[in-house]
Amino acid sequence: MKIICVGRNYQKHAEELGNAIPEEPVIFLKPDSSLMRQRDAFYIPDWTNDVHYEAELVVRIGRNGKNIEERFARKYYDQVTVGIDFTARDVQSALKSKGLPWEKSKGFDGSAVCGQWIDLGNRQLGDLRFSLTKNDQQVQDGNPNHMLFGVDALIAHVSRYFTLKMGDMIFTGTPEGVGPVAAGDVLEGFLNNEKVLRVRIK
Ligand code: ZN
Repeated sequence: MKIICVGRNYQKHAEELGNAIPEEPVIFLKPDSSLMRQRDAFYIPDWTNDVHYEAELVVRIGRNGKNIEERFARKYYDQVTVGIDFTARDVQSALKSKGLPWEKSKGFDGSAVCGQWIDLGNRQLGDLRFSLTKNDQQVQDGNPNHMLFGVDALIAHVSRYFTLKMGDMIFTGTPEGVGPVAAGDVLEGFLNNEKVLRVRIK
């Protein structure tokens, strides 16, 4: 299983971090060891002082494919949830400034959190809204229609480089509103107002 992530896929988030709007998808991977298994507690690593939440719509790949055409991409995912791409922003900024790969800041143990999977059924992704609260205050609110590259386009692009396999996940990028977490915070993710995720920060 692999976790494919998309960076800078919402214009306002790219702007809040001072990044240019990309001309093609920005793709990076998290290793399978980054997936937080118990889903309820995130431990801040001791080598960072600035971990940010990034709430994202996550789709699960339901069949294997390579070089998938965009018009057929919908057949390759069937479940969706809200996830958090935890990011050690201080480490990422240092790596970015040197032009180095940023995996250490984004692929560390527990950095990928997925909520409860929801069958997409006949719904379109555009019918879904997702949001994140921190200590009961809404901090992020996402609309898949605002993605710079939609999920079908992402699948077409990614599958030119990486064979997609059943069980792979795609974190589709975060909208604006990212911010830091501290021990004691509680993050909750919602898909169309249904709570699918709860994480306590330790
Ligand atoms: Zn992200």
